[in-house]
Amino acid sequence: MTRPAACLFDLDGLLLDTEPLHAQAWREAAAAFRRPLTDAELLVLRGRRRLENSEQVRRWIAAAGVPPPSSEELLAVQQPIARRLLRNARAMPGAPELVARCAALAIPTALVTSSSSASLAVKSAGHPWLAAMAPVILGDDPELGAGKPAPDPFLLAARRLGVEAQACWAFEDSPAGARSAAAAGCRVHVLIPDDVPKDQVGRLYDASWVFLQSLDQVRMEGEGLSTDG
Ligand SMILES: [Mg+2]
Repeated sequence: MTRPAACLFDLDGLLLDTEPLHAQAWREAAAAFRRPLTDAELLVLRGRRRLENSEQVRRWIAAAGVPPPSSEELLAVQQPIARRLLRNARAMPGAPELVARCAALAIPTALVTSSSSASLAVKSAGHPWLAAMAPVILGDDPELGAGKPAPDPFLLAARRLGVEAQACWAFEDSPAGARSAAAAGCRVHVLIPDDVPKDQVGRLYDASWVFLQSLDQVRMEGEGLSTDG
């Protein structure tokens, strides 16, 4: 049993099942510029901020010999698709229950997401349980330096909570997000996405992190939490 100073939660692919929706939006947007994206490329985009992803996709389009659109042109295609899909995002199994377990134990929680405030509003509309988490660190937070995989978002969350990042548990799913939490010094728990090939897990995720197949593996134990991951 451990009693973390706080639990810091990623949003996309960790609390909400949005990653297939983000992937579909990028896939459709890139296809509009005649550059099909592979599953491995879509995994690279996961967990990062929108502008960094649009720059990455522009480079892939350019490398294919197609004159690339501007970032604005690309996002003008991608964003309406994403917004339409994300309105119907579902909770990941066990996510509302895990947030409720933290509240029952009076363990502070923060949301640490690369999403912008506008995107969070779309995704969270059907999920009032997300409002239990404060502070919320957003990709467009004015106090944020670099986004994930840099440590800045998790360091900012710990600072706003008034705790040491090293005393926090972080929950992530993407390689970029988990690297961000690890660089901040958090104890990293990774929910390994179903669509990551088994033979790639060792390359993408550090063996020192706690691997979870489900958030239900994080249980209450006494005044703290334990995992069987
Ligand atoms: Mg994620």
